[in-house]
Amino acid sequence: MTTVIHTHPSLSSRPYTTDLPIGRFAPSPTGELHLGSLTTALASYCHIKSLGGKWLLRIEDTDTERCDRQFTEQILIDLETLGLYWDGDIIHQSERIDIYNDYLQTVLAPLTYGCQCSRKSLARYWDNIKKVNDSVPNQQRYPRCCINDILDKKEHKLRLQLPDYAIGFMDGIQGMQWDNPQQTLGDMVVRRQDGMINYILAASIDDGLQGITHIMRGLDILPMTTAQISLLQMAGLPTVSYWYHLPLICHTNGQKLSKQNLAQPIDTRDPSALIAQALKLLQQQPVDLDTPERMLKQAIDQWDNTPLQNKQQLATL
Ligand code: GLU
Repeated sequence: MTTVIHTHPSLSSRPYTTDLPIGRFAPSPTGELHLGSLTTALASYCHIKSLGGKWLLRIEDTDTERCDRQFTEQILIDLETLGLYWDGDIIHQSERIDIYNDYLQTVLAPLTYGCQCSRKSLARYWDNIKKVNDSVPNQQRYPRCCINDILDKKEHKLRLQLPDYAIGFMDGIQGMQWDNPQQTLGDMVVRRQDGMINYILAASIDDGLQGITHIMRGLDILPMTTAQISLLQMAGLPTVSYWYHLPLICHTNGQKLSKQNLAQPIDTRDPSALIAQALKLLQQQPVDLDTPERMLKQAIDQWDNTPLQNKQQLATL
C-alpha cells in the first residue's frame, strides 16, 4: 500500500494555525555550535525570514545523559552574537516531559507496547536466525518479540508501531522522497525504561504543537522524516507542510561534521566574518561586510535555495 501525505503544498490543510510561515532551529545541546549546526541555523533563519515568517528556537534536551545546560547557554550567546534572534519564547524539551507522556498515555497509547528485550537478547535472536537462514537483513528492525506480551508500560521501555507502507513527501531541496517508516526504523523505542523520551517523538509533538510549517535541517535527519510525518498524523497534530534537508558539511573522510566526531566549536570573535563564511558555504551570493544584523538583512533579501538543490554535501573540511 502506498500513501502520499501531500502531493502539493496547496493541498495540505492547516486547521490549527494561521498562514504565517513558522520555522525553527532545534539544536540538541550536546556540544557547542560548529560550522555544520551554524549553517543549519543560518539557512533556516534566512529562508523563513525571506518568506516573512517567524523563526522559533527549541532546545532539544530530553537526553539528560548527553545534554548540558552550559552548552545551551553557549548556543544562545552564539546565536545572539551573530544577530540570529529568535521569535517568541524558547522551548526547552526537558521541561515538557509531561506533555510527551500525556500523548503516549492517550492518543498514541493504542499503538504502543512495553518491551523487555535487551540489546543482548536481540543479538542472540539474530544469531539464532542466522544459524538457520543465510539471508539475514542488514538492517535488523525490532522483530516485535514483545508485541503480544502486554507488559506493564510504565515498568518497561515503550515501543511505538510505525506504519508499514511507503509515505511520500516533497522535499524543497532534495526533491520527492519516499520511505516506509516501519522498514527504516521498525517499532521505535519512544520512551526508555528510565523514562527518557526519544528525540523523534518529542520533536514531532513539538513541531505539531508549535504549528511549525517549514522545517529546514540537516540531511542526516532525512531518514526520520516519514516517521515524524506519521507520528504527527497518529497524534492528531497538524502536518508540517514544507520540508527541506540541507546538504551537509563533512570531514574529508565523508563523515558528517558533528559533535560526536569532535567538530571545532565556532569562533564568534569576528561574527561578521563568520556569517560571510557560512553564507559562502551555503552557496549564497556574497553580502557586504557589515554588522551581523545588516549582513543578515541582505542575506535574507538574497536568499535562494536553488544552489543547494539535490546536493548531499555542502563542503568537506
Ligand atoms: N536536535 C537535532 C539536532 O541537533 C535537530 C532536530 C531537527 O531539526 O529536527 O541534530
